[in-house]
Amino acid sequence: MTTTTPTTRLAPSPTGALHLGNARTFLINWALAVQNNWHIVLRIDDLDTPRTKSGADQQAIEDLTWLGMNWHTGPVYQSDDLAPYHDALTALAARALIYPCTATRNEILAAASAPHSDEHEIHYPAINRPPSPAPFTFKPVTDQNTAYRLIVPDTPTPFTDTRLGPQSVNVQQQVGDFVVAAKSGLPAYQLATVVDDARQNITHIVRGDDLLRSTARQLILYHALNLQPIPTYTHLPLVLGPDGRRLAKRHGDTRIAFYRDRGVPPQRLLGLLAEYCGIGPRAPLTPQDFASRFDIAKLPTDPITFTDRDHRWLCDE
Ligand code: GLU
Repeated sequence: MTTTTPTTRLAPSPTGALHLGNARTFLINWALAVQNNWHIVLRIDDLDTPRTKSGADQQAIEDLTWLGMNWHTGPVYQSDDLAPYHDALTALAARALIYPCTATRNEILAAASAPHSDEHEIHYPAINRPPSPAPFTFKPVTDQNTAYRLIVPDTPTPFTDTRLGPQSVNVQQQVGDFVVAAKSGLPAYQLATVVDDARQNITHIVRGDDLLRSTARQLILYHALNLQPIPTYTHLPLVLGPDGRRLAKRHGDTRIAFYRDRGVPPQRLLGLLAEYCGIGPRAPLTPQDFASRFDIAKLPTDPITFTDRDHRWLCDE
């Protein structure tokens, strides 16, 4: 693989089971990779302790495989090698771009997870930043309430999403100096993602549009760390439950494993997901057919709602 090989990643967090919503995002990512000959890395984003669940990594791998997806590299576990994250934090500290601060336990826990909603995001005012941040030697601290924050400029960060067009976010106004590492030096989601995307040579990121908010933060980190290649970003509308909220456990059991255990064939799930992608009407479909028929231009722009009728169709009731 050369540095110019177009590469994407499937990056499940083993914090819960794959359901119809995130399976659809992975499937679209995979289909785009197949259509465009991208190299695929399977990365297990397992730094989000204590939310990671034992066995959820294997379950995600089984679910992706059962639906017909494949990859060229991995699974690569983030927790297997923490040195690259420490190196990045060391570089940021040496350039006085981060500073230690006290944070609440909830803030520290939240920073470990990809922010799938803005509900728990707290704006951290720049007035809490040290008046003249100085370079220091990064050493993880062990006290429970210390985190490291990145000095975020008070300027817009522009980028272009391949579907949504030009975007611009002033991260200082949005969240302020955000957490890049928690106590003990465990990297926060934003830092771990950028360090890995860069070292895995990821050129194409495809993910749910709830992470659109994170993209400007990640680009600031690319620039602060002087990393390449800067990926292109494609954010996809989510699957929602009947109440209009992101599909989750509260909407009943929509886990891939639930349908698999009930004997629903993967082609049936692919058929429903194909309809959710605008290439319906729903009818059983092989993964190869899904990949060849998928057309990003036909992807509905509005979120998709999962209904009881969909559930009954899957179960052939
Ligand atoms: N692993 C993250 C999640 O499932 C997604 C990371 C990303 O696509 O940036 O929430």
